[in-house]
Order: sequence, then C-alpha cells, then structure tokens
Amino acid sequence: MIKKPRGTMDILPEEVSSFLHIENTARSTASNFGFREIRFPCFEATELFSRGVGNSTDVVQKEMYTFTDREGRSLTLRPEGTASVVRSMIENGRCSGLMPDRLFYLINCFRYEKPQAGRSREFFQFGAEIFGSAFPLADASLISLADSVISSLGISDTELHINSIGCPSCRPGYRDALVKYFSSRSDELCESCRARLNTNPMRILDCKSPVCSEISQGAPRTLDYLCDDCRTHFDTLCSYLDAQDIKYKVDPSIVRGLDYYTRTVFEFICPVIGAQSTICGGGRYDGLVSELGGPELPACGFAMGITRLILAMKASGAKDPDVRTPAVYFATLGEKARACSLSITRKLRERGIYADCDTMGRSLKAQMKYADKTGARFTVILGDAEAESGRAILRDMADSSQTELEIDSIADFIAKAESI
Ligand code: ATP
Ligand code: MG
Repeated sequence: MIKKPRGTMDILPEEVSSFLHIENTARSTASNFGFREIRFPCFEATELFSRGVGNSTDVVQKEMYTFTDREGRSLTLRPEGTASVVRSMIENGRCSGLMPDRLFYLINCFRYEKPQAGRSREFFQFGAEIFGSAFPLADASLISLADSVISSLGISDTELHINSIGCPSCRPGYRDALVKYFSSRSDELCESCRARLNTNPMRILDCKSPVCSEISQGAPRTLDYLCDDCRTHFDTLCSYLDAQDIKYKVDPSIVRGLDYYTRTVFEFICPVIGAQSTICGGGRYDGLVSELGGPELPACGFAMGITRLILAMKASGAKDPDVRTPAVYFATLGEKARACSLSITRKLRERGIYADCDTMGRSLKAQMKYADKTGARFTVILGDAEAESGRAILRDMADSSQTELEIDSIADFIAKAESI
C-alpha cells in the first residue's frame, strides 16, 4: 500500500469547500483593497531563500526541501512566498512601475517540520504584499486587509499582536544589549539558542522552549531601543489602527522567524486552536528588494496559514459554506426516458442549473432514495410515456407539491424557483 508522504494531506471534496470559501473570501476582499493576484513557480533557486529569508533562520537551516536537478543546479521547493514575489518584481521590472504595487497570492508551501495539528510539511498560504510605501499608512492598510479577511470568515477570538524591531540604524544597539543579557544566562539556554547567541540573538526571543521563553521575559525590549524615526513610525501606525477601530496588543516578544523584517512586525493569534495558534504573520521588509538585487524599495506583507484558518473557523463556530445540492434530479424508467434525461440535464447544466440523473442503471425506487440523499430540491419521474409526450411531473421534495409541465419549460421553472 503506497501512502502519502508524512506531513502532507489529501484534501477531500468535503474539505475542499472550506478551502474554496477561504480562497474566494481572500480573493474578493483583497481585490476590494486594490490587490491583484500573482502566481510564481513552486520551486526556485536555493539561493533566493538563503539570501531572502536569511541563512541563520530555522527555515533555511532546517526546514527546506532542497534538491539538485539533472543539470546539477540547487533548487528548493518554496517554503514561503515573499522572496519569490520580490524576485518576480525585480525580474519583471515592476519596481519602477506605478506605486503602490499591491499583490496577493494563494500558494502551497513546503517546510520539513515535525507534523502536528496546524503544522504540516506541505501547507497553504494566503499572502499579500504592498510595495513602494515607507509610510505607516501602508502597514495600517495591510493589517486592515488581514483583519477584514479574518472577520469576513467569521473568526472571532483573535488577538492582533504588534511590535517594532527597528531598522539597520537602531538594531545594532539593541543586538548588543540582547547579546549582553543572554550571555549572562547562556548556560541555561537550549542548544540551538546558544548557537543563535552569536548568529541571530533576536531569534532566541522566538524560541518555544519553556526555559528560553522564561529567560526571554526579562530580556531588553526592542521598543526601548528604537531610533526616533522608527519610534514615530510605530506610534503613527498605532494611531492609524486606533482610527480604524482595530484592537491590538503591543507585544515585545513578537520578532518573527524570518530575517528580512524591519520596523513593524505583527501576528494574529487565535489561542483557542491550540499550540500552533498564529494564523497570520507579517511585517515590513524595507531592505529585502535591494538585498535581492533590486532598487531601494520599501515594502510590507503578511501570510496566513489556510489550515489554521479552518481550525479557527471551526473553533469560532463559523458557518460552513453551503455544500451545493442538485436543483433537480431526473429519475428514469425505460430506454427512451434515459436518453431524454441526458439531453434535458445537459440543457439545464448549460444554463447554470445543477441537474442530475441516473447513471447507475438503478431501479426507480433506488433512484428516488438517491435523489433524497443528495438533497435534490425537485425530482422528475421520466418514463417512456413522458419522453414521448414531452410533458412530465415536477415534484417539490420539501412539501411534496406537484406541477405538471412541458419538459422544455422545466429550465425556466427551475431558474425562477432558484432565483427566489
Ligand atoms: P510558526 O511560528 O507557527 O512556525 P512561522 O513564523 O514559521 O510560523 P511564517 O513563515 O510567518 O510562519 O508563515 C505565515 C503563516 O503560515 C503562519 O502564521 C502559519 O499560519 C502558516 N504556517 C507556517 N508554517 C506552517 C506549517 N508548517 N504548517 C501549517 N501552516 C504553517
Ligand atoms: Mg515556523
């Protein structure tokens, strides 16, 4: 028996409806905010991620699916979307286009992680990026999009946590303070954090080990080390969130797992879904476009995990999107009736009506049972006599009322009934 690889999932038709609902909501909300969809390859040159996401991050160090192709090139299945969007902006000359350039994507991503609830090796993201604006107006409208998508999905009980991690001018001072603090307790840190102390001390604040997170509680806070420009940016962003009535908590422990962030970082957390409770993470990354060989171009973005959104929707009791049921089912008896059912269902389907008929050669009784199980709104029993006379009886399954009509006018009748 061949099984799916560990950490991947089959999304069965019963669950695809939740995915579609989220994708449709994300697409329509993003487009109301002026975002347009972008698509890009599922694999990229490995260097894009080691440079873009950052060599010392967990994603690059331990989580990438990297392979060599037949020409000996090192390629990697995308662990996230931002680096690819930036590469595509640069490669397609969009960095000098009309700004702001607002883009969104719906993608699958791959990370070699320990599978658990809300964490898999292939997972799905809705992401959005705004290029061209250094103003906190962009951060505020980006967060507003994330908030709108989450609330349109009926997810309640979320908390927005925000922080600022400064810029290249104030980060070094903060970094020194962090190294000094953690060095004094380095023997208590976990093994990976001891290594991070020199490579990427800010990552220690993100460590999930109980001891490290306890030590992190007393660590210096980025917000106390911000330069004047970063401070103003952060305070102005907070005032723009207040103006939109978006509730937030300033949370110094939010530093995000990827290297490219500057200034604003944020997460939407839904505590009721368990340990993997971050449903959306994002922030500003003013240095990434130039880091990847483009011009200086400020930008910010976020990504949401779709399976975590589904868990959050369930926890919030959000209504499942309605599963489509047939408008009409044609039960047939006789060879002429069967041929007739195929042609009439085709006509109805071409008018956008979900019509169904027997393809199993079942008895009339079994066909009626099937129609009932699938939730068909109307049924028509077609015998050879009906096929010949061109008239049939349409039965409303809810109240058993019957209407006799021309087979050719069934489409009009149902279209009218469906539109009410
Ligand atoms: P985490 O701290 O949970 O590992 P992260 O900081 O690595 O998250 P990002 O790279 O910011 O995550 O990705 C954005 C969002 O994508 C996350 O908030 C989460 O909802 C989702 N996500 C990330 N990794 C996974 C995964 N392995 N499985 C499912 N969803 C994921
Ligand atoms: Mg992670």
